[in-house]
Amino acid sequence: MQLKSDYMVRATALDGLVRAFAIDSTETVAELRRRHATDPAVTAALGRLATGTLLFGAMLKDEDQLVTVRVQGNGPAGTLLASANGNGEVRGLVSNPRPDVEQVNAKGKLNVSGVVGTEGRLTVTRDLGMRQPHTSTVELVSGEVGEDLAHYLATSEQTPSAVGIGVFVQATGDVEAAGGYIVQLMPGIPDTVASEIESVIRDLPHPTTMLRDGDSPEQMLTRIFERDLQILEHKPVRFHCPCSRERAERALLLLGPEEIRQIMAAVAEKGATEVVCQFCTSVYRFTMPELDALLSSLN
Ligand code: ZN
Repeated sequence: MQLKSDYMVRATALDGLVRAFAIDSTETVAELRRRHATDPAVTAALGRLATGTLLFGAMLKDEDQLVTVRVQGNGPAGTLLASANGNGEVRGLVSNPRPDVEQVNAKGKLNVSGVVGTEGRLTVTRDLGMRQPHTSTVELVSGEVGEDLAHYLATSEQTPSAVGIGVFVQATGDVEAAGGYIVQLMPGIPDTVASEIESVIRDLPHPTTMLRDGDSPEQMLTRIFERDLQILEHKPVRFHCPCSRERAERALLLLGPEEIRQIMAAVAEKGATEVVCQFCTSVYRFTMPELDALLSSLN
């Protein structure tokens, strides 16, 4: 099998009347699935969220800025969260990776809204390096993630947007394709042009059908805009978690001396405690002497 690397493109079309983003996130979503051992419907839900969040990340101005999208629906998967920086790196988590629910819905599709829930909230937090991150919340419209992200862009950012994102999961549970596009209509676009674009997008094949047919992100956008498309940026994307042993140590220190003593008492027999990163499932092990050293560093 040929391994291709994930990337996204940022583009403009129709003399700047349209902004467009497209992505192949197959390997990134496969890595999320490996890390969190998700069932297929949750693989699709978290994969769509991570893919959409990476595209939101493409809208950031600087590489060290951060966008986090949290979906809190009333479904059995609980909270889903993805966080991407302007450098094309994403990580994500889900409260319940394997909820007891039908993986496929009545239409034969992965039961994404069944695991996410059809009611709840979607919150976008942009950390632009200012003192206060910018946060905005909308109600979920369907729990299918793509529609919910489109609703967020239309209401909270007043930018009419088409969001087409998808994850194709094989019968084995492996991710075969993931990716999609966001197309945004800028102010001043004539109604006739806007409705023409909407109609072309309505007739497009599903994003994972295009990817499985071998379309690149550029080719997905070319199907919409043909020759009017101008690619502005091409950026690799990947799963990445910035956690480290030092950060795990700092998290322990933040608990304070009393709590650290309690942990030490609880794990005295095992001789060590483990700090697990929720985002990437990395395990950081601290032995009793190491915990003791942390405790004395607090005094
Ligand atoms: Zn981590």
